[in-house]
Amino acid sequence: MSGPVSTKDTSDTAVPDVPTPTPTLEISDSRVAQVGHTMVRRALPRRTRRTVGAWCFADHLGPAAVTGDQGLDIGPHPHIGLQTVTWLIEGSLLHRDSLGYEQRVSPGQLNLMTSGGGIAHAEETSGTYVGGLHGIQLWVALPERTRHAEGGFEHHEDLPKLELDRAEVTVLTGEFAGQQSPARADTPLVGADLALRPGRTTLPLRADCEHALVVLDGAVSVGGDRQNSSIEPGALAYLGSGRDELGLEVREPTRAMLLGGEPFESPIVMWWNFVGRSREEISVAYKEWSAGTDRFGRVDSPLPRIDVGPPAWAVSG
Ligand code: MN
Repeated sequence: MSGPVSTKDTSDTAVPDVPTPTPTLEISDSRVAQVGHTMVRRALPRRTRRTVGAWCFADHLGPAAVTGDQGLDIGPHPHIGLQTVTWLIEGSLLHRDSLGYEQRVSPGQLNLMTSGGGIAHAEETSGTYVGGLHGIQLWVALPERTRHAEGGFEHHEDLPKLELDRAEVTVLTGEFAGQQSPARADTPLVGADLALRPGRTTLPLRADCEHALVVLDGAVSVGGDRQNSSIEPGALAYLGSGRDELGLEVREPTRAMLLGGEPFESPIVMWWNFVGRSREEISVAYKEWSAGTDRFGRVDSPLPRIDVGPPAWAVSG
């Protein structure tokens, strides 16, 4: 589950996001994109918002029906400068990467791949799974300190859970309400699954972090002194920072993702499957993938590798 980022999503230059050091509620529509045979709703990046903490990408996948010939099959493709976080609430996906990991992921489990300076992977359903598929893939931008380092892969089946008012919270990565995920996190952040039952829940937040919500199923109202809006699938609700708690209200069982973290250290450039700091380094990564150099290794997958044309800025006019 991985979608290429294009200028339909965000600028391909290192423009910083507008800082929002205070609580806000900005609801932006996702862009509907096609990944394999499956429709996804891209909540992040958007033109006005490309990072929430280190989170820089959120593709809400499905709900979709996977059949024998209409699967979610993403052939080998490269990444730099990020972690991929794969989280399903229904279905199953098979991950294979250039480090040699082959790992099925199912609901309640986390697949976390760290690209470092270069990795490749494939995500497959065909031949291994038929049924409903519903989940989210997120990217975490790596800081300068680790973005050129070795890659890695982790699978976690035993993540911290806590009960909070009318919610069961699973901490995928980072820290939430005193619970620390065992997953590798290179910057202070939180990624949590919220299974909300009807009623009101108050989430404790770190005021020095910015946060956002993506609803996968159902609807949630964010209460505030001035605003009260319903957030539904197909939107990113950016909440700003400066909140030490967040009141949520739902009328029906709802699944949502809480994403947050300390504002990221620097503006990023995103193009295709790459996260960097300049067009130049992304052009180099593009050329190395196209040339099949050792940088990205090989993925043992029956699917064909994915190639694309060069970035627009690299095409001489
Ligand atoms: Mn990918």
